[in-house]
Amino acid sequence: MKTDSRKKEFFGIWLLLLGFLAAAVTVLVLCYTFSARLPDNVGRELTDSEEQEVIERNSGLIDYIYLSPNADFPRNDEIRKLTIHHMAGDLSLEGLGETFSHRDRRASANYAIDSSGRVALYVEEDNRAWTSGSRENDNQAVTIEVANDEMGGDWHVSDEAYDTLIMLCTDICSRNGITKVCFTGNEEGNLTLHKMFSSETECPGPYLESRMADIASAVNRQLTENREKQRDAKLKSLRK
Ligand SMILES: [Zn+2]
Repeated sequence: MKTDSRKKEFFGIWLLLLGFLAAAVTVLVLCYTFSARLPDNVGRELTDSEEQEVIERNSGLIDYIYLSPNADFPRNDEIRKLTIHHMAGDLSLEGLGETFSHRDRRASANYAIDSSGRVALYVEEDNRAWTSGSRENDNQAVTIEVANDEMGGDWHVSDEAYDTLIMLCTDICSRNGITKVCFTGNEEGNLTLHKMFSSETECPGPYLESRMADIASAVNRQLTENREKQRDAKLKSLRK
């Protein structure tokens, strides 16, 4: 009898150990698979030449880069929309980058603009940022967070941030073949808002929301001017 219970005890311990081993292996495999899916340039400081390559693939207006792990690599749809958000704060680009570095926050944006008009990139345009509470929208949109220079109220943004926003939107459209920006007030247009996808947010706040039609016409004016300039330059070179 004694030998039998010892045998059972021995068998039980081995079973327990095997269970632990299997659990540990599973966790390791999951960790490896999870991290293997992240590109190498995510979540760390980049070298000067790496930064240059990133800028060449994205906007020439970028002043600061921190690539967040909170994204889908790559996006699964074509870029055809812009979604403008507000930070609900006057954060520095570095501070927002720090927020987006935490995986448990599950938040990011492609770009951000601070109150002095500096531009940050957190998620390359080829990848889907986790910004608007809509997988479908964020797979089609380049998302931009804009700093506020007023806390609460209308959540105003500085003129510098606003002017840079027009430049950045124009640049994104030009490089991604968006010929016209259209704000319809709902998700049918190609200028969308966070609040269209979530009833829990007022993002981008009353000020930016009231300027959406102005933003669309300013970007469209700039896109037309750029196209005319290009056409004139082409005609000039053909006449030479
Ligand atoms: Zn938002």
